[in-house]
Amino acid sequence: MSGLMLAPTERWLDDVIHHHHPEAREKVAELLQGASERPEGCLVTAGPSRRKVRFLGQQTRAYRFIYAVTRKEVLTPDDVVRHKCHNGLCINPEHLEVGTRADNKRDDWEFSAYGVDFSML
Ligand SMILES: [Zn+2]
Repeated sequence: MSGLMLAPTERWLDDVIHHHHPEAREKVAELLQGASERPEGCLVTAGPSRRKVRFLGQQTRAYRFIYAVTRKEVLTPDDVVRHKCHNGLCINPEHLEVGTRADNKRDDWEFSAYGVDFSML
């Protein structure tokens, strides 16, 4: 019954991680193979915007999916997956970490000091 307490995306992720993990890992491998590696180690997806992924009827950002599946971590809607490398197009699991929305906001502020709005890339 505790499932009723979960947000729909959380319940979906819980299902993905606990009941469909092998397929989810394959999807992650496919995404990582399709990305190109940058000298700094980032794995960048093709195209101008952040890659999305559809799995088991739910669409989400590829890096969020990759983080959750790789770490087997059920993210809540408040968990924001951040890029330690500050490249929003990067999907390298090692460059991703989870933080709160407040952390993310702080990052945005730190970034704007450099005059580049990465969310627009
Ligand atoms: Zn990166």
